[in-house]
Amino acid sequence: MITRIVEISGGVGGARLARGFSALREVDLTVIVNVGDDAPIHGLQVSPDLDTVIYTLAGLEGPQGWGRADDSFVANTELSRFGVDNTFRLGDLDLALKIYRTSRLGAGDPLSEVTEAIRMSFGLDVKVLPASNDTIRTVVNIEGGRQLTFREYFVDRGHQDHVSGVDFDGAATANPAPGVVESIDEADLVVIGPSNPPLSVWPIFAIRDVAEAVRRHPRVVAVSPLIGGRALKGPADVVLSDLGLGAGTESVIAAYRGMIETLVVDTTDRADVGEIDGVRVIALDTRIVDAEPASALARAILAL
Ligand code: GDP
Ligand code: CA
Repeated sequence: MITRIVEISGGVGGARLARGFSALREVDLTVIVNVGDDAPIHGLQVSPDLDTVIYTLAGLEGPQGWGRADDSFVANTELSRFGVDNTFRLGDLDLALKIYRTSRLGAGDPLSEVTEAIRMSFGLDVKVLPASNDTIRTVVNIEGGRQLTFREYFVDRGHQDHVSGVDFDGAATANPAPGVVESIDEADLVVIGPSNPPLSVWPIFAIRDVAEAVRRHPRVVAVSPLIGGRALKGPADVVLSDLGLGAGTESVIAAYRGMIETLVVDTTDRADVGEIDGVRVIALDTRIVDAEPASALARAILAL
């Protein structure tokens, strides 16, 4: 029997779980991906989370989880000749994808169609959908009332600021990309990947029709991005706490209030197993940097 699974995903964490599900023959997987971090660089359209998901599903992701493995940086280095700020490093192989995306978008093709062409070119049989074809931009409000673009907050300033709020510009009027709501409605199981809840998942739920589809789905499981109460990488634990959601497992449950039936935490957080605020909490091994433990976790989620 085939189980239809929809995963809601940001970049690295969500991509790793998607790779786990994609290895299971009995799963028909659709990944709905955050576009709130999308922004141009050198005039090229960068969709960091879509690219991380596609590269990871193809087994071609870079050592930090983003970009391409074994990439070279010839073009990026050459940019300094023109006095261009090239501190945001884009590898040559990665640049080719960005050039292709930019030219298709420039010709008027929607992001979902371009993404479909890209995933087919990598030979993937998993469906990968941008949450929206419309522009959604995550804005990070930091102490002192300053507003930062996601890239300013995350890349330029190294996510060291305390966050007082997050906004998703454009989300209120954005439509879900074709197939997003339909795939959630038809799914046997919706899984929220171990992505940063406020910064990677909320921009997807900021699209009203997507949030409603998830809310009415009877089987929604989230995987916590926290291990031992801390993010494996990045600021998820700090942002959850900065936003007043508390710490550890409770903060993830608070971030997904009204959305999930079950939360999977890591075995290091097994003290939280039971029921918290009406959510069933179970513990599994969620350390899924490699493909093998990722598919073991996917199999365990399927068996819940
Ligand atoms: P980004 O868009 O690339 O920042 O990625 P995501 O939002 O999808 O993922 C960032 C989150 O993934 C961080 O909070 C990490 O703690 C989490 N993460 C990364 N790898 C793993 C893993 O192997 N297991 C778990 N549980 N979380 C992970
Ligand atoms: Ca991201």
